Amino acid sequence: MSDFAQVWEKVKDRLRERISPDPFNRYILGIVPLELNGSICKLGISNDFFADWLKNAYVDWIIEAVQEVTGLEGVEVEFETGHEVYEDHPNEETKPSVVKAKKAPKKTVAKEKASEPRKQMSVLNPHYSFDTFVVGDSNKFCHAACKAVAGDPGKQYNPLFIHGGVGLGKTHAAQAIAHQVLDENPKAKVECLSSEEFLNIYVDAMSQGKQNSFRKHFRGLDLLVIDDVQFLKGKEKFQEEFFHTFNTLFNAHKQIVLTSDKSPQELDGLEGRLVSRFEWGLSTEVCVPDLETRAAILKQKQDSLKIHVPNDVIFYIAERIKANVRRLEGALMKLVSYVSLTHEPVTRELAEKLLGAIFEEEVSSEVTVDKIIKSTAEHYDLRVSDITGKKRIASIVGPRQVAMFLSRKLTKLSTPEIGEQFGRNHATILHAVQKVEKEITNDESYRLSVNKLERQLKMG
Ligand code: ADP
Ligand code: MG
Repeated sequence: MSDFAQVWEKVKDRLRERISPDPFNRYILGIVPLELNGSICKLGISNDFFADWLKNAYVDWIIEAVQEVTGLEGVEVEFETGHEVYEDHPNEETKPSVVKAKKAPKKTVAKEKASEPRKQMSVLNPHYSFDTFVVGDSNKFCHAACKAVAGDPGKQYNPLFIHGGVGLGKTHAAQAIAHQVLDENPKAKVECLSSEEFLNIYVDAMSQGKQNSFRKHFRGLDLLVIDDVQFLKGKEKFQEEFFHTFNTLFNAHKQIVLTSDKSPQELDGLEGRLVSRFEWGLSTEVCVPDLETRAAILKQKQDSLKIHVPNDVIFYIAERIKANVRRLEGALMKLVSYVSLTHEPVTRELAEKLLGAIFEEEVSSEVTVDKIIKSTAEHYDLRVSDITGKKRIASIVGPRQVAMFLSRKLTKLSTPEIGEQFGRNHATILHAVQKVEKEITNDESYRLSVNKLERQLKMG
């Protein structure tokens, strides 16, 4: 894949987060990345209609995303008509390897597309396979569970529930299952959708009176992956539909994979009967990767690029970006894109200059004692001054000890340092940590409540 095609993949990731799925699929996925020459970004599209639409509605977004990914300034976009994106697999997002950047005979393409209706609604990211998934302590159980499910869908763990913080590889792992299932059985009926896409498809079906075909389609799948189920919060009617889909698939021994930012026990706003089914199979967590794994992720990423990044620069980036793999990759991509265009040597100094803003973002998302105190107070409906004060009422002492426990767990501070911030000595902090640890093992609802708070803090 060319450097620009790689850059464009990242640009698309950014646009996907900002543009709703319908226009994204219609307009952005139809773009062929041609070249990035200096600051001119040349994009291929099928016809003038697309050009007008993109210029009016999306060109600023595209420029912004290209600048963010490459670190370039003053980027301009030029559209060239007469290009089509070909797909060799109806279920896959525009595979970079099959994107044809040359002029395409329009009529034949239109005919081919018309005679080949899309059987599947979802688009898979071609990069999210097991081959590109780096395994470390933080995700080895999740990886093993996903492999087991992919190798024997519907038999081992059903449903498989993957949970963990933002940017830690849940979507990647879930889509890797879908890729393997399709590789091994190209005829398998697979849908891999975010819960929002799933909901939109449902709403469309309802509004067009096509509930039956919706049901037929989703209840006849071999594998259903629903990403980010936490977004179904409060959508009662759809949860009911999903409940029935779930039951039909489950009873037919068809595989269901779900992801969420919370464990099933911590999901709120979802119907109890649905959540209890989520707990039937296996629930597995992806955690924040350690330094070596972060470096390994960067290395495997850079292997697919043409630019060599020296080890000291890889570690320099991996040390600074801890909590989010997406941000880690974004940093590498920015560095590599910049270097591929300017031909400057890849050094720590350059990384520092170019990635300062990303590093700062990382620091500001780090958990501090102040943040812990504030969130704990909110969580237990108290004031910050209650947590930091001296009152010895049980309803305040308990949450105060939780704040001390979380400060020990989530920051790198020692007990005396934490003591200082709470105006207590280190023995008090130690006592609080032990007390909370004990309570967590004895009381399930207490554990869940503390876990929920911890997760909120980790997600900033
Ligand atoms: P989540 O769904 O948990 O928010 P994603 O699956 O979207 O996170 O991952 C964010 C980015 O980080 C993706 O580009 C993904 O490929 C990459 N990534 C995350 N974990 C890994 C890993 N273990 N190995 C390789 N890439 C990873
Ligand atoms: Mg995701």
